[in-house]
Amino acid sequence: MANNRSETNEMAKDRYLELKKILEGRRREILSEVHEKMRDVRVDGPTANLQGVLDAVETSEVDIQEDIELALIQMKAETLQKIDEALSRLEEGNYGYCFECGAEISERRLRALPFAVRCKDCEEAREVAQQRERMLAQRRGAASLFFDMSH
Ligand SMILES: [Zn+2]
Repeated sequence: MANNRSETNEMAKDRYLELKKILEGRRREILSEVHEKMRDVRVDGPTANLQGVLDAVETSEVDIQEDIELALIQMKAETLQKIDEALSRLEEGNYGYCFECGAEISERRLRALPFAVRCKDCEEAREVAQQRERMLAQRRGAASLFFDMSH
């Protein structure tokens, strides 16, 4: 029995390490993209940190291209923050579980969608439900259009 238990722990540990690798890999990727972008953007000297750039988004007059670049950097900064949150959830053992049914979300899914909060089944069920809702709304829309035209 002790053997079984350590095997389970081993699997949980493998998953933990794998998920950590996914998140940290994504984090490194985004950081290097941010650094690359920051080279393209006018900043207050080479020591300006990310926060400095984000402040610049709000305070300085930049041309449209730089606006876009800065907006991209800001989006990436937000993604970085999400990754940090996911990493701390992972440390607490709360990352990678389905919000709806509590099942483990597959590594494959998390690799593609690191911030997925539902397993594939629950996500699909949700999409089907949403689609049905949209169809009903469309039908209602069409009905009211017909109603309006008949007046
Ligand atoms: Zn689920």
